[in-house]
Amino acid sequence: MVKQKKQVVVNGEIKNREWVVDTDAIRSIRGNDWTGDYPRLIQTDLEQMAETFPHWFLTVGSSSRPIACQRDGDYFIPKDGTLQCVNCGQAINQNPSCLIWTGLLPVQIVGAEKVSKHIRSLIAKGNMKLPYVGDEAAFLLTPIRIIYPPGWPNVQPSAYYTREFFSSLGIGPPGTSHAHHMYEDLRMCLFASWHTMTIREVIQNRIAPHALAQVKIANGERPNSRWFN
Ligand SMILES: [Zn+2]
Repeated sequence: MVKQKKQVVVNGEIKNREWVVDTDAIRSIRGNDWTGDYPRLIQTDLEQMAETFPHWFLTVGSSSRPIACQRDGDYFIPKDGTLQCVNCGQAINQNPSCLIWTGLLPVQIVGAEKVSKHIRSLIAKGNMKLPYVGDEAAFLLTPIRIIYPPGWPNVQPSAYYTREFFSSLGIGPPGTSHAHHMYEDLRMCLFASWHTMTIREVIQNRIAPHALAQVKIANGERPNSRWFN
């Protein structure tokens, strides 16, 4: 029994939603037979994520993007035997093809002077698109999504940034870039060779250093492949 939570906006008011993740409700997701074949895997990820990244949650999508509720644009969650909107409770009306972890990763900005200056100017102009911690944005709360591959856990997951991360750093999206360890569509290049690990380990061992490397590059430092692993 793992609980997750999310804030939603109902009639202009912020409400806290909390639910028990129903792992039976995700078994029907196309291409994700592993959730039924190896139920312990999803359970371990749920437990570890609740411990270390309690504000992240599991949602569903198609072709790497979360499916949005048509009424309120919110995400669908596995709850009480169905996939339902976290905001209005409406049942999903299309077949998802991927299972997605989404949440905010704190990425350290303090110390990266050029980037800090850019962020301060965005804040001053009211153009800052990402949440941050500290008056001077010591940490940027960076939206990340991680998608389980059909061959999990024998195949690495894919992980994505949003455009707002790069615009907050003062650079454009890097596209496919060896220096940035990035593919098209804001997807991270994480592992040259994969060995099995949990989602929490993927975030801690690879995604966190990857995001920090983007800050350093945006700050004008010479890209260094050691930053990434
Ligand atoms: Zn809804």
